[in-house]
Amino acid sequence: MTRPFACVVNLGCRVNRVESDRITSDLVGAGFSLVDQDEADIIVINTCAVTGEAESKTRKAVRHALGLPREPIVVVTGCVVNLHPNELTDLSPRVIAQPSKIDVARTAADAAGLPARTVNLDEGHDLADLLGRSRLGVKVQDGCNNRCSYCIVWKARGPERSVPVASVLEQVRRAERAGIPEVVLTGVNLGAYDGIDASDSHVEIDELLDIILEQTDIPQVRLSSLEPMDVHDRLIDAMVAGGERVAPFLHLPLQSGCTATLERMNRPYTDEQYEAMVDRIRTKLPNAAISCDIIAGFPGETDEEFAESRALCERVGFSRMHVFRYSARPGTPAATAPGQVAPEVMAARSSELRHVAENTSQADARARIGSCETAVLEFGNRGTLGSFHRVIVDDAGTDRTGQLVRVKITGMDDRGLLHASMGESDL
Ligand code: SF4
Repeated sequence: MTRPFACVVNLGCRVNRVESDRITSDLVGAGFSLVDQDEADIIVINTCAVTGEAESKTRKAVRHALGLPREPIVVVTGCVVNLHPNELTDLSPRVIAQPSKIDVARTAADAAGLPARTVNLDEGHDLADLLGRSRLGVKVQDGCNNRCSYCIVWKARGPERSVPVASVLEQVRRAERAGIPEVVLTGVNLGAYDGIDASDSHVEIDELLDIILEQTDIPQVRLSSLEPMDVHDRLIDAMVAGGERVAPFLHLPLQSGCTATLERMNRPYTDEQYEAMVDRIRTKLPNAAISCDIIAGFPGETDEEFAESRALCERVGFSRMHVFRYSARPGTPAATAPGQVAPEVMAARSSELRHVAENTSQADARARIGSCETAVLEFGNRGTLGSFHRVIVDDAGTDRTGQLVRVKITGMDDRGLLHASMGESDL
């Protein structure tokens, strides 16, 4: 029997990315061959509901898949499916909703008429070969117990739960065996990690980092997004102790740099606390790059509040800023809050923030010239530094894709891209 053809379309956040990788591996285990969308019999779409725009991209992706000439079956999973599945299943009888991501491959196999005996999801397919990655996300946590007033994700993802330590270690070791130089510890609320170890003791994120560094030889570990209030000294100390094996990078969602706005967002910190935390990080980890998410035009945000928010961004000097215009999510307190900001004001504020982002990012990159960092080479001599800036390693040669190397940053070109030369020794 010829293997049916399948394709996975990923939308949304870092956690979805990791889950889509897992689904891709499971589909191969279930007997599918991976192809592009227009050749696929089954298209899996991992959906996103974080903003109105993300939901509309989801609907567009489903319609696009349904319109392809092979008339594929479309299996939808992810946040839109958890919140309102009918929106997608009503589009066509060829859309199947599967809220449980670990069951997506089985649902796809059933839809494709694959006999149950051929489905072997435990085969342990090599994600590195499958995906050709130099960096692999490892999901250690899901869900969120916070109640930020603009957010729908906690409703879609449910309460916090953590992957046991043994299972995290197994995922990291698989990446290591596959020759992947960097893993990214990922969760919806990573700082809330509270996994169980072999003796049933609770392990927090700093301890998990220690354990991974001690019990595996993975060359580099990166932490994905952490809520600011979860970055305590123990975690910073664990990053320092990990030396070059821990990427000097922290993504700390700010959302607003004004305490009054943060209070309305139900975010549990003030602008001063955020800045103090950044200072603590930079005292202990001077080369740390710090990035953030920020929302422009949250309900009630006055010109003065916005100016405070913008000024804090300039003072912190983020290496990257993900700027979002506020998007009202039905069912959240903020959606019906007074003082909704006019779209043109939101657009102007977000463009101002993007301008700040460009300047601070360039300044952070420029300040690294003359220093040494690790870099994962992804395409020939192009790669990503530990600080997450893009880099071209001018004397890397052509056969280093997929390697972690130490480089000396030598300059920046007129496109704002860092250049480097190979350091004294490889890692
Ligand atoms: S911390 Fe806030 S914004 Fe982030 S997932 Fe939880 S509720 Fe949403």
